[in-house]
Amino acid sequence: MTDKTSLFETLNPPQRMLMGPGPINAYPRVHQAISQSLIGQYDPVMTGYMNQVQALYRGVFQTENKQTMLVDGTARSGIEAVLVSVLQPGDKVLIPVIGRFGHLLCEIAQRVGAEVKTIDIEWGEVCSPEQVEKAIKQYQPKLLATVQGDTSTTMNQPLKEMGEICERHGVLFYCDATASIAGNDLKVDEWHLDAVSAGLQKCLGGPSGSAPITLSDRCAEVINRRKHVEAGIRADHHEQGEDAMIQSNYFDLAMIMDYWGPERLNHHTEATSMLYAARECARLFLEEGPDEVIGRHKQAGDALATGLRAMGLELFGNQTYKMNNVVGVYIPANVDGDAIRRELLTCFGIEIGTSFGPLHGKIWRIGTMGYNARQECVLTTLAALESILVKHKAAIQPGQAVAAAMEFYL
Ligand SMILES: *Cc1c(COP(=O)(O)O)cnc(C)c1O
Repeated sequence: MTDKTSLFETLNPPQRMLMGPGPINAYPRVHQAISQSLIGQYDPVMTGYMNQVQALYRGVFQTENKQTMLVDGTARSGIEAVLVSVLQPGDKVLIPVIGRFGHLLCEIAQRVGAEVKTIDIEWGEVCSPEQVEKAIKQYQPKLLATVQGDTSTTMNQPLKEMGEICERHGVLFYCDATASIAGNDLKVDEWHLDAVSAGLQKCLGGPSGSAPITLSDRCAEVINRRKHVEAGIRADHHEQGEDAMIQSNYFDLAMIMDYWGPERLNHHTEATSMLYAARECARLFLEEGPDEVIGRHKQAGDALATGLRAMGLELFGNQTYKMNNVVGVYIPANVDGDAIRRELLTCFGIEIGTSFGPLHGKIWRIGTMGYNARQECVLTTLAALESILVKHKAAIQPGQAVAAAMEFYL
């Protein structure tokens, strides 16, 4: 039975240092933004904020795309919105799978009724442009869908050449950049991406619950051909599109675009507090400067990886393609990975990540993202991990890690 007194206790979560693959600690300014007053959905101040959010995220995505907005929900709501709005039943989609989130793209595309073809890549590697071009020629998909940074393997899929290939073959190109955006280069227009979705809880330094997305004009046109405005809000000037109706109402990007556009179609009620958070995340990123923020992630990621190596630990995956903001590290022999994680949490208040699928029980994943891509977080995590590993008599070289990481912060 639940203790009745605890139900009415003031919410007082512990202070943790979240050093896993996300979620992470939000920037203090994001907490402040979330706590601001609620206003009405069509208050001119609110619609003004919506326009600002669009402009700010054009900066974050490095795009001129008019159709840049938020989908209300966690990062996978952005993924689902793009896939359900672009893919009609029977449409062909090509998906390079480099990890868990590639499988997620396949699963969502299958639910949508698309014909899915995968390029299966061993975990810890990325897909080559040659593999993509060959598969596109053979299969002739409508859409190439991929993940940029797949936190499950810590690999960062290069996108530039894939974008050129899609452009050449007239294939739409979508990418889930949730884990990579703001910590690794992402140039939407320059790399010919037609659709990109993200989330706040990785390098953007916010809580989960809002999915920024951007769509090229070409992609928006494909989606608008499927436009069916719901009956209760339909007006005389609305023309229904000639293509099949989008299978989801909530994730119908044709209607969502009209909510964010001059029409202000009354589709859903924008999640006001999350919009405040998303706005602050973008403002923090652009204020500090994209190159500076990405540089800070690289510095923290390199310092952490070097520290782990100095401790005698082995890193997972092809390091040429490692994401700046998360590292996979093999759990040393003869220690219980979950017991170490538990003690890091109880003794130091530090959370690091476990792993999925073929890597489960083999590697930990340690992230340095957003507010936590900082020297203190890197050094404290290394010192704490080392002390728990020493306690568990792991075969490591103590006394080196923190000094090696400090070299990155001279
Ligand atoms: C973390 C992560 C997500 C998160 O999705 P949620 O719905 O917010 O849990 C999505 N995609 C990738 C590649 C991620 O790393």
